[in-house]
Amino acid sequence: MSFIKQYRCTVCQKVYEPGSHLLTCPSCGEKGILDIEYDYETMRKFVDRSYFENNHDYSMWRYLPLMTVDKKHVHQMLKIGWTPLYQANRLHHRLGIKTLYIKDEGVNPSASLKDRASGVAVLKAMEEGYDTVSCSSTGNAASSLACHAARMGLKSVIFVPKRAPIGKVNQLLIYGSTVISVDGDYKDTFNLSKEAIEHYGWYNRNAAINPHLVEGKKTVALEIAEQLDFQPTDWVCVSVGDGCTIGGVYKGFYDLKQLGLIEKIPKILGVQSTGCSPFVDAYKRDAPLREAEENTIADSISVGIPRNPIKAQTAVLQSEGSWIAVSDEQILKTMKRLGKYEGIFGEPAGVAALAGLDQAIKDGLIHKEETVTVIMTGNGLKDPLNAQKAVKPPVLMKPNLNDLKIYLKEKGEHKHA
Ligand SMILES: *Cc1c(COP(=O)(O)O)cnc(C)c1O
Ligand SMILES: [Zn+2]
Repeated sequence: MSFIKQYRCTVCQKVYEPGSHLLTCPSCGEKGILDIEYDYETMRKFVDRSYFENNHDYSMWRYLPLMTVDKKHVHQMLKIGWTPLYQANRLHHRLGIKTLYIKDEGVNPSASLKDRASGVAVLKAMEEGYDTVSCSSTGNAASSLACHAARMGLKSVIFVPKRAPIGKVNQLLIYGSTVISVDGDYKDTFNLSKEAIEHYGWYNRNAAINPHLVEGKKTVALEIAEQLDFQPTDWVCVSVGDGCTIGGVYKGFYDLKQLGLIEKIPKILGVQSTGCSPFVDAYKRDAPLREAEENTIADSISVGIPRNPIKAQTAVLQSEGSWIAVSDEQILKTMKRLGKYEGIFGEPAGVAALAGLDQAIKDGLIHKEETVTVIMTGNGLKDPLNAQKAVKPPVLMKPNLNDLKIYLKEKGEHKHA
């Protein structure tokens, strides 16, 4: 059963029939990003607490009635979603707050939250009869698209900027994509992919302009709410590049609010790197978005011209959240802390959200009594070279117990005989 009411242009507000294969608003062009609107009155009768209690599909597809894809091929997909929401054991003490949850998106099939969008993209491409999918990406959108396309027997053509981390590029090659490494930045990569997709008529998974993908990404918020028995935390922190993820996080909570399943939408903290912070800059200046430099180790959020600005800014504004930027040094320090105190290894962009929380607590924006969820959007193994910058190399020694004893004694951490 589908509860889709219409598509609405986020720029001119014009509405379109749900059956159309439109990606953007024909009157506004590429900037006319569409939002999908549902008939919540009807959906309410079907999607209630008992719907969730009786649903034994522990993947993102348990939320199909709140999405735009058809269930036909879902059973053949790899398992995306229903990722763990861990309550911190130790890290919250270090940060100085009472309650912290970490949503570990690194355990998805291609090891990032992007699987939620790419899973939808592949199913949509199949519904519409495409045999090839394509996108440009700083890395994770690409590797996740390649992953699910491979699983479902579609071809993929992927454009990445030449700085994409090795782990992510290796994923693409292993999944059998045609990989084009563009000698330029993300902007150049995006532009080439756009021309190529138009020229060859491939299915377009460029996140911002495809409204179905945000509907996939929003499942992370649906899960957070459900895993907390529909009492989500006061704040949710998430890192921001194009703005689709944060837009999806807001949309998920918005849906639940319309359905009467949650009382309040959490305040959303959008986190960027000081090396690339167009949203934070615009927020501080209270001015329109301006192109920013792309100069950070957090490749997944190194986006100088965000492609989904309206949904991102709406998320923060409507949730009464805020924007914050953190330096690469803070990200590296936080990466080590998250690993050391919780056993979770995040990639720089994922860890940025946690570093943002740390900064927000120091700035007095988030108080110690408030409860917080941080979305760890990607796995640290994807980017070994940056992780190396966060740590010192291990000690090298001869295979000799005495040397080991001397070393451990000096280190003073392991006391025994
Ligand atoms: C894509 C991505 C983000 C940001 O998502 P946007 O939709 O570009 O804002 C954050 N973290 C990771 C790991 C990502 O891959
Ligand atoms: Zn429009």
